[in-house]
Amino acid sequence: MPEEVSPRELWYTQKSYFSPYLQQDFKVKKKLHKEKTPYQTIEVIDTYEFGRMLILDGVVMVTERDEFAYHEMLVHPAMIVHPNPKRIAVIGGGDGGTVREILKYEVDEIKLIEIDKRVIDVSNEYFPELTKGLKDWRVEIINTDGALWVKKEKGKFDIIFVDSTDPIGPGARLVEDDFLNVGANLLNSDGIWVAQTETPFYITDFVKSYNKKLKKLFKIVRVYLAEVPSYGGVWSFTFASQKIDPLSPKRTPPAGLKYYNPDIHIASFALPQYLKEIASSR
Ligand code: SAM
Repeated sequence: MPEEVSPRELWYTQKSYFSPYLQQDFKVKKKLHKEKTPYQTIEVIDTYEFGRMLILDGVVMVTERDEFAYHEMLVHPAMIVHPNPKRIAVIGGGDGGTVREILKYEVDEIKLIEIDKRVIDVSNEYFPELTKGLKDWRVEIINTDGALWVKKEKGKFDIIFVDSTDPIGPGARLVEDDFLNVGANLLNSDGIWVAQTETPFYITDFVKSYNKKLKKLFKIVRVYLAEVPSYGGVWSFTFASQKIDPLSPKRTPPAGLKYYNPDIHIASFALPQYLKEIASSR
């Protein structure tokens, strides 16, 4: 049952996992859901500024108001530059937003590897606009740890998207060398690896170390950026491929997007100096 919020708890505080000196507060209309699963605590709240929010272990994952920025920018740069993306895997992404964006192209198959089935159930209930693609016949949902899945999967993919939680809890395995080495081998020769790589301003070292790991596995590695206000500002993604340089998009994007367009594509790969140095180092 939705829980009315008492005047004493009208704000939701998102504490930072990387700094004790940082938090972000959202004024709450209503608390809609809270449960503890074997993997994490799932909460859904309705807020004045961002609408409904999905929160995992106290960290904002998705908001109704700005999820388009994150999901479009995770998906479209790679989909636009790959010559023929047909087989796609999404690791994490149980809210459905990434699959929804991929389905704007004529793909043959999407595997969604989400460790926590309850994230999908709760998103189905509270975020139907995000999960509408999950029932598509081309989508196979596999509820397991992405780090185990990469070891068992035998097929090859055109693009693998890592749409995970932060690199703590179950998401920590998805930035380890072991996972990246095996995962990179699941790509076709012109395949693309794209991961959400956190806030580059506050945890520049994370972006740096992830970059270094991918540079051992891929010839082309590029960081790109988007503005996601509910995540605290600028957000980074990392693109990697043996053959495809994302700087020259080949196709026009699907109609009806709200963030991504050809100008943003080019602009998002332009980095401020503090990141440019990191991204160009080996
Ligand atoms: N937009 C998001 C962000 O950056 O805040 C990511 C959202 S999506 C909900 C992240 C999902 O990754 C969660 O549902 C979580 O259960 C899933 N996840 C975390 N670790 C995982 C793992 N090792 N294998 C598969 N899924 C995982």
